[in-house]
Amino acid sequence: MSLADLRTHYASEIKPEELGDEKVSVAGWVHEVRDLGGICFVVIRDRTGRSQVTLVKKKTDPELLDRARKLVRESVVSVTGSVKPEGKAPNGYEVIPDEITLLNEAESPLPMDTTGKVEAELDTRLDSRFIDLRREKTTAIFRIRHEVLRAVRDFLTDKGFIETSSPKVVATATEGGTSLFPITYFDREAFLNQSPQLFKQILMSGGMDRVFEIGPIFRAEEHDTRRHLNEATSIDIEASFCDHFDVMEVLENMVAYIYEQVIENASDSLEVLGVELKVPKVPFKRVTYDEAIEIVNANTDEMLNWGDDLGTSSEHAIGEYVFKETGESHYFIIDWPTEIKPFYAMPYEDNPVLSKGFDMMHRTMELSSGAQRIHIPELLIERIESQGLDPEGFEFYLKAFRYGMPPHAGWGIGCERLVMTMLGTENIRDVVLFPRDRRRLSP
Ligand code: ATP
Ligand code: MG
Repeated sequence: MSLADLRTHYASEIKPEELGDEKVSVAGWVHEVRDLGGICFVVIRDRTGRSQVTLVKKKTDPELLDRARKLVRESVVSVTGSVKPEGKAPNGYEVIPDEITLLNEAESPLPMDTTGKVEAELDTRLDSRFIDLRREKTTAIFRIRHEVLRAVRDFLTDKGFIETSSPKVVATATEGGTSLFPITYFDREAFLNQSPQLFKQILMSGGMDRVFEIGPIFRAEEHDTRRHLNEATSIDIEASFCDHFDVMEVLENMVAYIYEQVIENASDSLEVLGVELKVPKVPFKRVTYDEAIEIVNANTDEMLNWGDDLGTSSEHAIGEYVFKETGESHYFIIDWPTEIKPFYAMPYEDNPVLSKGFDMMHRTMELSSGAQRIHIPELLIERIESQGLDPEGFEFYLKAFRYGMPPHAGWGIGCERLVMTMLGTENIRDVVLFPRDRRRLSP
C-alpha cells in the first residue's frame, strides 16, 4: 500500500449518493471522540472539513471499537470504510469503518486548545503555530493570503509584468543605513535588504520594461506596533515609460481585483472569519499633501507645518475624514514635499519642492508607497547627497543610469498589511505564519 492510499477523499469530497458501495479512506486529525451508550463517534478533520466515523457497538468488531475509543485527540489517523448518508453529521454522511490506522499519536495535554472554545493569547498561538493552524479561523487567513498572491500574479502577468527576484543579501542600504540588519558575509559586512527598490530600477535600464517581485524585506526598526514586522513580504512593481499616475492606476485596479478574486474564490474562508468584503471603488480618491495637512489641522489637536511627515494619528484623522466623505477606505496621498520622500522620487519639473511620490492608504494605515523615479543621473546624485548619503556607495546603481535609463515609476505594497486591512485583524502577526519581531525569532 502506498501512503497516498491512506486518503482517497478529502472530507468535503465525499458524496454518499455518488459512491454507492465504494469504500473510501479519509485521513487527518482526530477532532473528537464521543463514546456514548451504544455508539461511538470519531470525528476526523482534514483541511477541507470533517468526517464523522460511526461505530455501533453491537455491530462493530470489539478490537476495532476498542482502538477507536482509545484514540487521543489530534492524533493522525486514516480510516477506511463505507459511506452512508447522515443528515445530522458534518457534510451529510458518516463513515462505517472497516479499518482505523493510527499513524501518529498526539501527546496530551495539547499546548493549546483547538476547539475555539477558549481563545488563546496571540503569543501562545504563535509559539505553537502548528496547533494554531488546526483551527479553522487560522487556516482561513492563510487560504485568503494565498488567494491574494495568486490574484496579484494573475493581474500583473495579464498587464505584461514579468516576475523577477532580487538579492536579499546586499552591500548597501536602499535608503540610508539606520534600519538595516548587518550580517557577516564571509570576511565582509553585508546587510539584509530592506527593499528591492534599487534592483528593480536597474532592470528598467536593462529594458525589462515591466517587472514585479513578491519577496521578503527586512527592517531593523525597533518598532513594537500592530502593523510593523521586522521581516515582511513586499509586492513591488516597476514600469518604464510610465509616470506616478500610471502606476497608481495599476495599483488601485490591482487592489480592487484582489478583493473581487477573494470574494469569488475564498468565500468559505471569509465566512469562517465572519468577514463581509466590499470591493473598493476605483478610482481611489486623491488627496494632496496640502489638503492632508489642512484636514489634520482642522480636525485634530495637532498643528502640522508644511514639510512635516504624517504620523499615525494624522493618518487616522485623514482616513476617517475620507471615509466619511466617500464611504471608501482606500485613498491616495499625492504631491508630497520632495524633502520627506526618498532620494529616488522625481521632483515635479515646474515645482521641484514637490515630488511625484505618493502613498496609498487604508483608513487605518499606510499600505503602499510609490513614485515616478528620477532617471537622470546628475539629478539622482544631487538628491542622494542632499539626503546626506554618499553616492559612492550607490555606484552599482548609478552606473545603470548612465547608459540609457528610461523614465520609470513603481510602488511597493506590504502583503501583510493588505491582508490585515482586508480581514480587519487587530495585529499584523495574525496574518504571518512565523512572524519576526523584536522579541520573536523562533519558531
Ligand atoms: P511605515 O511608515 O508605515 O512604517 P514605510 O513608509 O516605512 O511604512 P515603505 O518603505 O514605504 O514603508 O514600504 C512600502 C510598504 O511596505 C509599506 O507601505 C507597508 O505596506 C510595507 N511595509 C514597510 N515596512 C513594513 C514593516 N516594518 N512591516 C510591515 N509592512 C511594512
Ligand atoms: Mg512608505
